[in-house]
Amino acid sequence: MKRRDQPWYATGLRFACTECGHCCTGPEGYVWVDEDEIEAIAGHLDLDIDTFGRRYLRRIGAKYSLLEDPVTKDCVFLKEKRCTIYEVRPHQCAAFPWWPENLKSIRAWRQTARDCEGIHAEAPVVPLATIQAALEKLGDTE
Ligand code: SF4
Ligand code: SF4
Repeated sequence: MKRRDQPWYATGLRFACTECGHCCTGPEGYVWVDEDEIEAIAGHLDLDIDTFGRRYLRRIGAKYSLLEDPVTKDCVFLKEKRCTIYEVRPHQCAAFPWWPENLKSIRAWRQTARDCEGIHAEAPVVPLATIQAALEKLGDTE
């Protein structure tokens, strides 16, 4: 029997990324980056922080987001369906689809599945501990 304090996905959720790149595309959104992530990506691109900021960041209130392509609204680091900064991609990207808004209900999860081909009935089950670890890591950067 499921304990009452466990989430609805306590038995895990089916997911395996196909690397289709769809979650990096439009419509408009934000890819939040904190100081450590900015440093890591700038270093990866061999740019100083100021140059990186001018080329790739936009300020939203007190936070920073990666830029999008002005026409497609895809993340600027998506090229030919691949992340060109994969090794240092932000936590937000690495944590997808384990975002609080996607997990708040079965309905929200089904909605997420419409845009993510890695969520389907034949995909392997990702255990609760893995999902919770991703959520916790994401929480640290918000
Ligand atoms: S949309 Fe889903 S399957 Fe495609 S790259 Fe993103 S997480 Fe992977
Ligand atoms: S940084 Fe990479 S993984 Fe994140 S949205 Fe951009 S292309 Fe996708």
